[in-house]
Parts: sequence; structure tokens; C-alpha cells
Amino acid sequence: MSESKDFLRTIVEKDLESGKCKEVVTRFPPEPNGFPHIGHAKSIFINFGIARDYNGHCNLRMDDTNPTKEDTKYVEALEDAVQWLGFDFGDNLYFTSDYFPKIYDYAIKLIKMGKAYVDSLTEEELREYRGMVKEAGKRSKYAERTVEENLNLFERMKNGEFKDGEHVLRAKIDMGAANMKMRDPLLYRIKHAHHFRTGDDWCIYPMYDFAHCLSDYTEGISHSICTLEFENNRDIYNWVLEELELELPRPYQHEFARLGINYTVMSKRKLLELVEGGQVNGWDDPRMPTIAGYKRRGYTPESILNFCDQIGIAKANSMVDVAQLEFCIRDDLNKKVPRVMCVLDPIKVTIQNYDGNEEIDAPYYPHDVPKEGSRKLPFSSEIYIESDDFMENPPKGYFRLTPDQPVRLKHAYIISCKEVVKDTNGNITEIIAEYSPESKSGSDTSGIQVKSAIHWVDAASAKAVEVRVYDRLFKDETPEGIEDINPDSLSVIKDALIEPAVITDKHDDRFQFERQGYFYTDPVDYTDEKPVFNKIVGLKDSWAKKTKASEPKPKPQAKKVQVDGEVVAMSEVQKALFEKYTGEFGLNSEVANILARDEHLSSFYKETLSILNSPVSLANIVVNEVARELKQMQESELKFTTKQIAERVKMVDDETISSKIAKVVFEVMAKSGEDPTQIVEDKGLVQISDPSKILPIIDEIIAKNPDNVAKFKAGNTKLLGFFVGQVLKTTGGKANPKVVNELVAEKLK
Ligand code: ATP
Ligand code: MG
Repeated sequence: MSESKDFLRTIVEKDLESGKCKEVVTRFPPEPNGFPHIGHAKSIFINFGIARDYNGHCNLRMDDTNPTKEDTKYVEALEDAVQWLGFDFGDNLYFTSDYFPKIYDYAIKLIKMGKAYVDSLTEEELREYRGMVKEAGKRSKYAERTVEENLNLFERMKNGEFKDGEHVLRAKIDMGAANMKMRDPLLYRIKHAHHFRTGDDWCIYPMYDFAHCLSDYTEGISHSICTLEFENNRDIYNWVLEELELELPRPYQHEFARLGINYTVMSKRKLLELVEGGQVNGWDDPRMPTIAGYKRRGYTPESILNFCDQIGIAKANSMVDVAQLEFCIRDDLNKKVPRVMCVLDPIKVTIQNYDGNEEIDAPYYPHDVPKEGSRKLPFSSEIYIESDDFMENPPKGYFRLTPDQPVRLKHAYIISCKEVVKDTNGNITEIIAEYSPESKSGSDTSGIQVKSAIHWVDAASAKAVEVRVYDRLFKDETPEGIEDINPDSLSVIKDALIEPAVITDKHDDRFQFERQGYFYTDPVDYTDEKPVFNKIVGLKDSWAKKTKASEPKPKPQAKKVQVDGEVVAMSEVQKALFEKYTGEFGLNSEVANILARDEHLSSFYKETLSILNSPVSLANIVVNEVARELKQMQESELKFTTKQIAERVKMVDDETISSKIAKVVFEVMAKSGEDPTQIVEDKGLVQISDPSKILPIIDEIIAKNPDNVAKFKAGNTKLLGFFVGQVLKTTGGKANPKVVNELVAEKLK
């Protein structure tokens, strides 16, 4: 637990003290339309954590008001995630759908009070009548319907007499409200769809704004904690509970910042696309940012909770560096898991002066890990080492085995190379070595100096295992979609060799493979005949090095701990901006929130907009790329101008360059201040949309992959993504993904 209290706990304590609430009851209210991800872990950690800290309880509630997307398998995944993270909802598993009759009665009550009416405008009219931020909306003529008419129509809506969209039920609040969400919000809509729990009982479903507050009230929730994008929904939340004159105590809504992580996509919708597109092997693919994915990969619940604790509960949306999550798992495993030896890419070493065999007692844990245990390491004249631990012509600074440099075999002896055996192609197939009998680890009297110790396995007793080496799923810091997938996110090593105790001793299921990283026995595919290990994380952050090498500029450091602070309500100016952004400009609420709350960003954004009318694309670049630069420097130090940003966006909008290439262009602009058009011209980055240029590449890829073509034609349509990806890769990201998609689909028909 952090020592300082976060703003939510401060509120809870105040409410307990003042008697505003007697018992702390929270809830985690996911929609069962996908597997929960690391963002949900944060919400689980907050809601269950607060309930636990103040001796209350937390409900797990499935917010299942959207019948077309929800499913039992997601309910199960959500239950499993909460339990795996170590929280107990006991009997407190609820479904909003169980309250449908009750919510319906509340709607009737509102109608009878004259506070809700059936409206029959078309969807388009509804939007139009809502007005603009600075301009009041106007009320529909149907708002004049009498209570009797409304009751009658609403009942007939429920009985299925109307089609989807023909009528809606609305709250009668204020069409001129500054908060546009309060302009007669929808309470019910008609949807003829089968619900996974209520079947065909209902063809009208309550909207989030109506169902959520009433579900909270029904369950006696004291603190309804949600993410920032619901800030403007808080007024409706309170309006419903007050107007229905519900007895105290009532629940109150509080907002915190949602978690975003770089190199990751997080929304369930995007994750579903990866699953359905076959880019990953299901929701629990170890590369997925889902709880099920982390679990299968070998992350511990402790490491994820620790991560949630470290990032804190903040008021401003921000991006956390994925390296911080990787740090947490590494840190946790470092203190817990046994060290063993596994050779991923073996090369044989024959020790010509060793005769017979022995077993070396080797501790599982280094001295600074407070755990005990050891295993026997068989040793004989034939062993395997990692092929890159030997070099015939080493560069300067190479500390491992060479023809002139001895090396220590970890826990065993020092060996030196006597001869290198090669095949007819000149590839090294074997190393002939000698060992020093006096050099045994722990009782070395040989006096031989070595510069490093390497891992190894004994040939006769080593077991062959499969090792799945996972890396980040996306290679782009702010990935957009499948075109940003890291092609090397998974490599499968079929014939790694592991010391026998790992298989027979079954001492643990997570290990550090010396010098390689942390690994986990795959819970699904591991069998005694075919042991399978997943790489959890490397020993060091290999990405930090990679980016440093290619980019001299220091990367922004993820803040170790974010400042805790109360969510400051938006000022009137910010609120108006937010409404304008989401309403008029059509930005999503997350982007709008970031922009509205940041004066620098919103003024930068405004300036770009005065040059180019492309609100959504401009907002995205300002909130992501420009904001990232501004974290490291003052606005006056930026190398690029608003005009250049607009120019770059225009090139994407008019399809001169792909969104992939646009990122490259931005990187150059940020460093050099060159004009985007100039960069594109100099580097020949113009997007290729001409089918006559793309088709030959497609033909080539089809010719090279007959197996996948056959599989595709046999019905594995997921492989479409594979072919598209290959074409994009071949063109260095320059091909127009839309055109490629169409052409590939056409070709494979
Ligand atoms: P997604 O966009 O991924 O589908 P959501 O917000 O629609 O997410 P829900 O299932 O409705 O997902 O969310 C359940 C709870 O988890 C909500 O209270 C929501 O605020 C919270 N939550 C979702 N994503 C995050 C996140 N990235 N960080 C923190 N909390 C989150
Ligand atoms: Mg959602």
C-alpha cells in the first residue's frame, strides 16, 4: 500500500466520519462484452481495495444492458480475473439484467410524475434538436404528450409493438442545459435482440445513464467510482435518484483517470479485433494485455497489484510506460523463483580430458534470495552451451568462450577451447574443449582468470523442451491497429535443452533461466512429453536499449509514482470546450477530456484547426505526438509549427501517405523541423495506392505461401490479415492498407 492516501480514500474517510455513509460499499461494473484488461485491473484494485481497507464490501456487477455484444464466456472471464487478482466478491455477483423489472417500474414512476416522455423523433432529428454547446436545443413536440399517452406508448414499446428506433423514452430535464448530457437524455430504447440472460423477455433496454445509478442504489452502493469520461454523466446520475425521491443514503459518483499504457491497445473492441482477426491466439494469448493473457504468460497477481499501486490514482489521464509493468514482474520474480539452466540455441561441446560423470549440487537461489533449495546437476564430457557464447573471431570486449579465452561453466568447471569442428559449409558443429580439474566452482585452486560464467546443460540428461519467446505485441509506442503489430512478437523454439531437474523435480512453475529471463510452464499446452515454457519477461529492459541506440534524444521517463489528487471538476470554460469537442467536432470523450483540460494543447489544437478543418485527425496528433514532445520541452522549443502539423495531417487525410508512414514523418519533423512534404519527397514515402503497383507484390506473396493460401481457401479466413501484413511489410509500410485489403480479398476469392 502507498503511504499517502489517495483522493478517493480521503473522500471515503470524510463520508464515514460525517455519517454520510455507514458502510463502504463499492462495485466493479464491467460490461461482459470482452475479456478484462489491465485497465480493468486498476479499477478492480481501486474498488475492491477501498472496500477491503474500510471493512466494507465490493460487488461484482455485470453491466449487461446491451444484448447484442454480451456473452457468458465474458462473465466467466471477469469472475476469474477478480479472483485471480486475489479479491473475493463472495455472494455479491449481480447482473443489471436482474433489475430490468425494477428499472422498468422506476421509468413508469417518472412518467407518472411527468418527468419522462416517449419521444418519436428520428435518430437524426434527435441529434439536430440537441443543439450546440453555445446554442440551446429545442424540445420535441412529443414532449407534450399526456401522462396517459406516455404510459400507453411505453407499455406498447415493452410489448414489442414497435420497431427499433421508432420511439424512445426520455427524461424531461432541460433542452438548454449547459451540460449537453442533461438535454432530455434517453432512458430507454427499443432493441429487438436476444439477451444472453433474459432471452426474449425484453425488447426495450435501459440506457447506461438510467440503469447504472438505479443499480447502484438497489445494491446500496455508497461510492460509485468510475473513470473520467463519465464526469458529465454525474448530473444525470444525481438527477434520477433525486427526482425519484429515493430514500437516503444514496450512492455518489466519483471519477478517476483511466489507465493507458504505451505499446498497447486497451479497449475491448480493439482487443476483440485482434482475436477475431487471428493476430493473436485468443483472448488469453500471452501477448494480450488481458488478465487472462498475463496469467497465462506467467505474470503473478502480486506484480499486477503492485503496478496498480505504483501508478496511483490520478486526476489526469496519462500514458504509463509499459516498461514499468515489466519492471514490476521482474522485481517480483527476482525475489521468488529458482534459477535454472536452459540452452535455447545449443551447440555441442566435447570435453576431451573429462572422463566419467558426476552430479554437482547447485543451489536454486542465489544468496540474496531468502529461500533455500538445491538440485543435482549432472555433468559429463558432452555438454551443450548457447551457440552465441562461443565466437571464433570475437570483437573486442567479448567475455565468453573463444579459442584464446577460457570461460566458467556456471556451478562447474572452467573450460578452454582446443578445436573447432565445422561442416562442409563452414558452420561450427562442435567445440572440442578441455577442463581444468582444479577449477570446480566453490573450490577453485586453478588460478585461471575468466571474464564470465555461462550456462550449459549435460547432453545425456538434458530434456528437449519448447520455449515460446514473447515480445511486445506492438512495435509502435501509440499503436493504431494491426499495421503496428510487431512481427517478432512470438518466436517458438522447438528444441531448447533444459537441465533435467526442472522437469522431474517440479520445484516451481516459474523459473529464471540463467542469463535469459523469466519463464513459466504454459498452463494449457505443457505436458510431460512436450514441456512448454513461456517467456514472461527478460532480465533487462531490452526496449530501453533499442530506442536509445536509434534515438539520441532522451525518452520521457514514466513517472514512478503519479501525484495523487482529487479530480478537479472542469471549469465552465473547459466544460464548454469538452462539449464542443465531443458534440460539434465528434471527438471521443477521452481525447476531448485531455484537450479540454490542457490549455497549451487546446490552444495549439485551435491554431491547427484554423489552418485545416479536420478536427478528429488533428486532435489525435495533438493529444498523442505533440503532447509527448511537450512533456520534454517548452512550447517555444518545439521544432515544428502548427502549420506543419496541419500539413502532415492533410497528407494522411488525402491519402498521400499512410498513417504508418505519418509517424515516421512526425519523428523527422520533431527532430529537424523540416516540412512534411519535403520529408516525404526526399525519402520517397508517398503512399502506394495504385493497384498495378500492389498486385505484383500480392502475387509474389501468394506464390510464396501456398500452405496459407490453401488454409485460407479451406475456410481459415483469419489468414487475410497475414497476407495484408506481408504486403504492407514488403512495401515498408507505404502501401495503402485499404487498397491492399480489397485487392488481397479479391485475389483470394
Ligand atoms: P473498454 O473501452 O475497454 O471496453 P469500458 O470502460 O467500456 O472499457 P467496462 O467494462 O464498462 O469497460 O468497464 C468496467 C469498469 O472498468 C468501469 O468502471 C471502467 O471505468 C473501468 N475501466 C475500464 N477501462 C479502464 C482503464 N483503462 N483504466 C481504469 N479503469 C478502467
Ligand atoms: Mg466499453
